[in-house]
Amino acid sequence: MLSFYNTQTRKIEEFIPGGERKQSTNDYNPVKIYSCGPTVYGYAHIGNFRTFVFNDILRRYLKFRGYKVDHTMNITDVDDKTIRGANEKGITLNQYTQHYTEIFFKDLKLLNIEEVEHYPRATDSIESMNELIKKLTKKGLTYNKDGSTYFAISKYADYGKLSHIDSESIKTGTRYDTDEYTKDDVRDFALWKAVQNDEPGWQIECGYGRPGWHIECSAMIRKVYNSTIDIHTGGVDLIFPHHENEIAQSEAAYNEQFVRYWLHAEHLLVDNSKMSKSKGNFYTLHDLIEKDFSPRAIRFLLSTAHYRKQFNFTLENLKNASQPLSRIDNVIALSKNSKIEGPLSDYISDICESCISGFTEAMDSDLNVAKASASLFDLITRVNKYNSDNQLSKKDADLILETLRQIDSVFGFIFMEDTKVIDISEEEINKLIEERLTARQNKDYKRSDQIRDYLAENGIILEDSKDGTRWKKS
Ligand SMILES: [Zn+2]
Repeated sequence: MLSFYNTQTRKIEEFIPGGERKQSTNDYNPVKIYSCGPTVYGYAHIGNFRTFVFNDILRRYLKFRGYKVDHTMNITDVDDKTIRGANEKGITLNQYTQHYTEIFFKDLKLLNIEEVEHYPRATDSIESMNELIKKLTKKGLTYNKDGSTYFAISKYADYGKLSHIDSESIKTGTRYDTDEYTKDDVRDFALWKAVQNDEPGWQIECGYGRPGWHIECSAMIRKVYNSTIDIHTGGVDLIFPHHENEIAQSEAAYNEQFVRYWLHAEHLLVDNSKMSKSKGNFYTLHDLIEKDFSPRAIRFLLSTAHYRKQFNFTLENLKNASQPLSRIDNVIALSKNSKIEGPLSDYISDICESCISGFTEAMDSDLNVAKASASLFDLITRVNKYNSDNQLSKKDADLILETLRQIDSVFGFIFMEDTKVIDISEEEINKLIEERLTARQNKDYKRSDQIRDYLAENGIILEDSKDGTRWKKS
């Protein structure tokens, strides 16, 4: 029985898509999943990818169990940060966000994260936001102040059911949504924001402006699914106020349950503390690849840590990931090389079967990936041991490979290519050339060589002359 911890009920619950039990997983309509996606104003960091890998494991495991999935991840392409970034660069908002959206998709591919069915962009969903705000206004739940439209929490009795924060304590306490605009009540949040002169805006019925962040997700969920969804995911930092506000808007507007199961991924720490640029423990995927770590090792680390536990990421445990991965690779090589005729051994058949059942049992229990990967490594150990006393027949080898393929349909790191080659942007090349120049001025030739080699690996050749450094593609 597949079950998940539901943040809203604070209980482990049996997973029943559509709210009605059916005979087999095949009989269900596709599972409707919505995952809060990135704001595309820069490179996503390793903490973001923890959540995105969790989304991927969830989706892949549902498919492993025979469910069909219909998954959406939004792209937030208009907010304070994206507008500021575009202005600083002197380009349009669309040019700016398009650039980082492309990088984001490349990063997902590098980490072997499957494409989902829908990637709606906020700026393509303005009409759905208009519809939602109109409904809330008709019900008397909004007010307008200084050109912005707000949701009036005092008029919505059910507020707080996800985070279990009672709304009076939000009013008097310190936990409220910080907003740049004035409002009647500190708890209220902007649905539609008045724009400053140089900001992009859209004309909708409540005025000329741009979307508040919370309305985007509610509107996109309505646009894609038009009814209650099965699973909503995000990082724990989104529970309040973002997801709480999503519930308030959607349930108030449409008078039906918004989400059946809320799943939240815990924080990722780096070296036991919160990631920050000033502490020097802030890593994007590209930073780690530059340090010569493979996306495969990163995927391994992120997918074998339980999503509801805080995960302490260190370069040391990333380094150590190569050892279990090479144990897997040895068994794959051993199996692929087997040419011996003969029957399937009972022993191999048994250990493959118990690997799959152990894996399934663990994953069924709120995606216990730690236990599930123990089943995988148990198989690896036993195959190695068996092989040292006996020889694997071709039939044994085929069953082992098939078992690994099944597990890999969820974990995604077993047969993943160990590539270090990445597409590198012009911006990044120029940044590295500058860093190399500084390194040379400081006589740090080790670093300057590292940068030259890294660029060469990515097909970029540097040419130094008295006028500076030029680059070309090799
Ligand atoms: Zn969201």
